[in-house]
Amino acid sequence: MAQVQRMSRLMVKTLRDDPADAETLNHKLLVRAGYVRRNAAGIWTWLPLGKKVLDNITRVIREEMDAIGAQEVLLPALLPKEPYEASARWDEYGDQLFRLKDRKGGEYLLGPTHEEIFTLVVKDQVTSYKDLPVMLYQIQTKYRDEARPRAGVLRGREFQMKDSYSFDTTDEGLAESYRLHREAYQKIFARLGLDHRIVSAVSGAMGGSASEEFLAPAPAGEDTFADCPNCDYAANTEAVTFPLKPVEGAEHPAVEELDTPDTPTIETLAEHLGVPASATLKNLLVKVDGEIVAVGVPGDREVDLGKLGEHLAPAVVELVTAEDFTGRADLVRGYVGPQGLEKVRYLADPRVAPGTSWITGANKEGKHARNVVAGRDFEVDQYLDVVVVEEGDPCPKCGTGLKLDRAIEIGHIFQLGRKYADTFQLDVLGQNGKPVRVTMGSYGIGVSRAVAALAEQTADEQGLCWPKEIAPADVHVVAAGKALQTELALEVAETLGAAGVRVLVDDRAGVSPGVKFTDAELIGVPKILVAGRRAGDRVLELKDRRTGEREELTVDEAIARLS
Ligand code: ATP
Ligand code: MG
Ligand code: MG
Ligand code: MG
Repeated sequence: MAQVQRMSRLMVKTLRDDPADAETLNHKLLVRAGYVRRNAAGIWTWLPLGKKVLDNITRVIREEMDAIGAQEVLLPALLPKEPYEASARWDEYGDQLFRLKDRKGGEYLLGPTHEEIFTLVVKDQVTSYKDLPVMLYQIQTKYRDEARPRAGVLRGREFQMKDSYSFDTTDEGLAESYRLHREAYQKIFARLGLDHRIVSAVSGAMGGSASEEFLAPAPAGEDTFADCPNCDYAANTEAVTFPLKPVEGAEHPAVEELDTPDTPTIETLAEHLGVPASATLKNLLVKVDGEIVAVGVPGDREVDLGKLGEHLAPAVVELVTAEDFTGRADLVRGYVGPQGLEKVRYLADPRVAPGTSWITGANKEGKHARNVVAGRDFEVDQYLDVVVVEEGDPCPKCGTGLKLDRAIEIGHIFQLGRKYADTFQLDVLGQNGKPVRVTMGSYGIGVSRAVAALAEQTADEQGLCWPKEIAPADVHVVAAGKALQTELALEVAETLGAAGVRVLVDDRAGVSPGVKFTDAELIGVPKILVAGRRAGDRVLELKDRRTGEREELTVDEAIARLS
C-alpha cells in the first residue's frame, strides 16, 4: 500500500513566475514547483515534494553503498578545531570554513568534509589488520561558506553529501576499495537517470594522489571538461596540463633576460622595450630574481612601468610577452601547491610575496574565483605554465582535437593514500605483529546537488520531468471537473495506491482544470492521469509527461497499465 497524497492537503504553493534572483533552470523550476524554499544565500528548506525526491536519491545511494559492503554511520557536523589544525585544513580551507566558538571560548567548525574525523574514529575502533578493509559512509549535512552560492541547491552553503571513506593496509587494497566505489557510483548515477562522464580531476583540498570526478553534462554546470573523440581521454579542464608550446615558425625566446650589468632602472627597461618610461603595457610579464612582479594580461590588466621601481633594485629582470608564451592572448599560469594545481588567470595584486592575496580564476568568466594567499596556498616558486584549454586543442594522449563541454560535478572519488593516516598515526597490528600504516580513500556524492543536476538534465519548457525512480510520485491523477471527476480521481488513486503505486491526486476544489494541468506539468511526475470530460463513462486520459503522448483508457485499463 503506497501513499496516496492529496494535493488539497499537500503543502505546496506553485508560482507562475520565476524567482527574481534565479539564473538557472533548476533554481527557477524547483522554486516554482514548490520543492524548495530559500532561507538565506545558499541555505534551503526542502518542502514536502522536494524532500521526497531527496529521499529517493538517498535510498538509491544507500542501497548501492550497502551492496559493496560499506557500513553506514553518522558523525557530527559540529566538529572540534584540533583535528583540522593537525591536518592544516583549519587554515587551508580559508574563508570556506564556517568557524564558531562555544560558551567557553573553545573553537569549532561546521564540517565541510570529514577525512580527519573518520580517521580518528577508525583509529579508536580498529586495531588489527584482520579488521580491515573497512568502508564507512554517512549521508549528512555539510557546510561550506561558498563565495558564490548560486544556482539554487546546486551550490549550497549548507548541503547534503554522501561521503565515504575506505581503510586498507595495502596499496592493492586501496585500489580495490576505489574500484568498488567507482562501480557503485556508476550504478547509482545510472539508476538516478543522470547522464554522466568520469573524468580525471585534481585532488584539490583533499590532498592525495589519484582522483576522478563524475560530471553531469549541463549548460548550468560550473565545470568544463575536455573529452577526446578518438581515445578514452577525458579530464576536467582544471586537470589538463599542456606543456608550453612554442609558436609555430616564430622566434621563441620565451624568457629574455635584460642584459644590464648594473641594477636595471625604469629607464633602461623602457628603453629596452622601446616605449616611454610612463607607459602601461599589456602582454608583459616581469620577473625579478625569478619571481613574477608584474603581469599585463590582454583585456584584463596592464603593467604600469612607473610603478615597478621598487622591484627593480635586486637583479635580473626577465621580460616575457604573452604572445611569446603561447601565441594566444589568454595566458594563465598554474601553480602547484599543497592544494594541487591552481590556475591563475589574472592577478589582483601583481606582486608575489608571501601573504599576498591573489585572485585565481579557472576560466574566462572568472568562475571559481577565490582568494588564495601566496606562500600559504602554494609555493611561490613552484609554478607550471599552462594555457586555458580550448576547443580543438590536441589531446595530451593521442593528439586529436579535444571537445569541451560544461558539466555539474556530482561526485568525486580520491585515493588519499597515507596523508591522513600519517597525520593521526593510524596504524594497525600487521600480520607479523608489527604496526602497519593504513592507506585511505574518500568518496563524495552531492546528494542535494544531484536533485539540481537531474532537474537541469531532464526539465523542459513546461517544467520538471523526473525519471521514475526519483519522482515524488509514480502517477499524478488530476480531477478535471466537478464532483463526478473528483470522485473518480480519488477512487482510481486509492486503487492504485493499494496496488503499491505512489500517487499524487489533484483533488483541489475551486481550482480550474487549466491550472491543475499546468501544475501537473510543472511538478513533473512521469505519468498524468486525467479524470475529465468522459468521467461519466469511466474513461480517463493518460498522458506521458516526457513524450506528451496521450491515450484514452477505461478505469480498469488504466489501473492495469500503471500498477
Ligand atoms: P565544487 O568544485 O563544485 O566546489 P568540490 O570539488 O569542492 O565541488 P568535493 O570536495 O569534491 O566538492 O565534494 C564532494 C561532492 O560534494 C562534490 O562532487 C559535489 O557533488 C558536492 N558538493 C561540493 N560542494 C557543494 C556545494 N556547495 N553544494 C552542493 N554540493 C556540493
Ligand atoms: Mg568546492
Ligand atoms: Mg570541484
Ligand atoms: Mg571535487
